[in-house]
Amino acid sequence: MKQVKYVISLGSNLGDRLEILKAAIESIRLFAHVEAVSSFYETDPVGGPEQPDYLNAVLLATTDLLPELVLTELQKIESAAGRVREVRWGARTLDLDLITAGDIEQESDFLTLPHPRAHERAFVLQPWLEIEPDGQIPGKGWIKALLSALESQE
Ligand code: ADP
Ligand code: MG
Repeated sequence: MKQVKYVISLGSNLGDRLEILKAAIESIRLFAHVEAVSSFYETDPVGGPEQPDYLNAVLLATTDLLPELVLTELQKIESAAGRVREVRWGARTLDLDLITAGDIEQESDFLTLPHPRAHERAFVLQPWLEIEPDGQIPGKGWIKALLSALESQE
């Protein structure tokens, strides 16, 4: 099977955030080859109710698993971390999002690729830029340009 390069974002704003993110990275290593992990970034929550600050990171991984299977694995890791799906965009022990899967573009309720909001989220673009300076979002462009555009809006 063909190896696909995945960009995965990690976030936590409840509990021991650093340990939760590190454990999630170890779990991802069990089904994918993790090639790079960004630094951990403390970020303000975007949208949703009043909630604590997040710790965010982005990693690059390759695997021959199909995107749906990768998302299923990520959701198992979220559940194992004690995540309960309550308020949309509310506080969570662990949020794992699939940002891109190679140049695949698809849309469904279960999985939309690229992630439909990644291009407007500095907490995704900044850690990603650190580990892949020439990264691109299919249909949206260079992450470096997307991040600059966000920063100039502020
Ligand atoms: P959010 O990450 O936007 O705060 P959730 O983590 O609760 O919200 O995810 C909501 C739903 O989004 C999940 O049920 C999942 O199936 C769906 N989803 C669609 N595309 C993606 C993607 N690219 N990455 C992660 N989840 C996705
Ligand atoms: Mg999510």
